[in-house]
Amino acid sequence: MIATEKTVEQEQPISNIEWDVERVREDFPVLSQTVNGKPLVYLDNAASSQVPQVVIDRGSKYLQEEHSNIHRGVHYLSQRATTAYEGAREKVRRFINARDSRECIFVRGATEGINLVMHGYGRKFVGEGDEIIISAMEHHANIVPWQMLCEEKGAHLRVIPINDAGELILDEYDALLNERTKLVAIAHISNALGTVNPVKEIVARAHKMGVPVLADGAQSAPHMVVDVQDLDCDFFAFSGHKMFAPTGSGVVYGKRELLEKMNPFQGGGDMIRTVTFEKTTYAGLPNKFEAGTPAIASQIGLGAAIDYLNSINREQAVAYEHELLRYATEKISSIEGVRIIGTAREKASVLSFIVEDVHPHDIGTILDQEGIAVRAGHHCAQPVMQRFQVPATARASFAFYNTREEVDTLARAIEKVIEVFS
Ligand SMILES: *Cc1c(COP(=O)(O)O)cnc(C)c1O
Repeated sequence: MIATEKTVEQEQPISNIEWDVERVREDFPVLSQTVNGKPLVYLDNAASSQVPQVVIDRGSKYLQEEHSNIHRGVHYLSQRATTAYEGAREKVRRFINARDSRECIFVRGATEGINLVMHGYGRKFVGEGDEIIISAMEHHANIVPWQMLCEEKGAHLRVIPINDAGELILDEYDALLNERTKLVAIAHISNALGTVNPVKEIVARAHKMGVPVLADGAQSAPHMVVDVQDLDCDFFAFSGHKMFAPTGSGVVYGKRELLEKMNPFQGGGDMIRTVTFEKTTYAGLPNKFEAGTPAIASQIGLGAAIDYLNSINREQAVAYEHELLRYATEKISSIEGVRIIGTAREKASVLSFIVEDVHPHDIGTILDQEGIAVRAGHHCAQPVMQRFQVPATARASFAFYNTREEVDTLARAIEKVIEVFS
């Protein structure tokens, strides 16, 4: 029934990758816990990744020494808070290689970033009969805002289909692009399937038609080296809590020419230049899009998470994760009764699977008893489940602090699930 040992050489070291995973694990205090009497095996990184001590310390330092509102005060603390907050923005700029830090708008996360583009760009530039292209593998955060817009404007949503491996069918994309297309919004990496989409190519084809592209980078920012100028995408949204920073932090990047033409998102303090009852004029970038007091501590934490990522060898981290995913795919797929959902050639970090005759929630529950955290459900991507005709999947998602031993523990626990239900 179980054919893992034969097909996978466990002792073989990960070749050409210098990665001291035990050393890296020490940076993340959460990981040394036990759960249900077992060492925690945290494989739910696609939902939220863990936070290193240096990021926790940076947040504490702000609260202990700098807590104050930004931009408005001339006093010492406010200036320190503003410096730290704007410093984090510059770190974000370098992290994604944006031209100008004013193109990096702080938001609560990818969801808010996409909604900002929907309100600021969509409601201004999309009209009746226009079309927006998304794909069949989008997270609900990159579906629902566009549906809401289409409903409001009488516009239409067009969906690029995917093949059985979970890859976009690019010929169909070409067929969808036309003079009514007003925006393409596409996941850089699918959170449900792990597919890495060819965003650069998608952008190039859209730009030939003069159509801007939003890349949903919630899964790529933590697991790839991202360069928005190289991708040439017009918008790029991501969440801090999936890249080793606190919840409430996140960014939507936009090209300056577009951001300047767009409507503001929310109205309030900090986003204005002058206010009278007759007319308000708006502030310049990025303030125009940052109404009210932002999540100052969280965004400073995002800056610290970027410092942390720069302090470890990023290329090696990505290579290590890639190798770990390959190892896990081989090991888990060789268990009889297991089917991997999402077998694209280019994948990152995510292993979705189902076990014959076992509901994914039961898998999740039994794995939890073994101290293993995976996600079971539709992963906020119900259309993906419909495409593969499954109600849900179990999903193990990796970060550079996960180990081969943890994958082995996962494999043993899945075998146990199969035993229980056989
Ligand atoms: C998690 C996720 C989102 C939404 O991110 P939030 O942090 O919940 O705003 C959007 N897209 C993808 C691909 C995701 O994985």
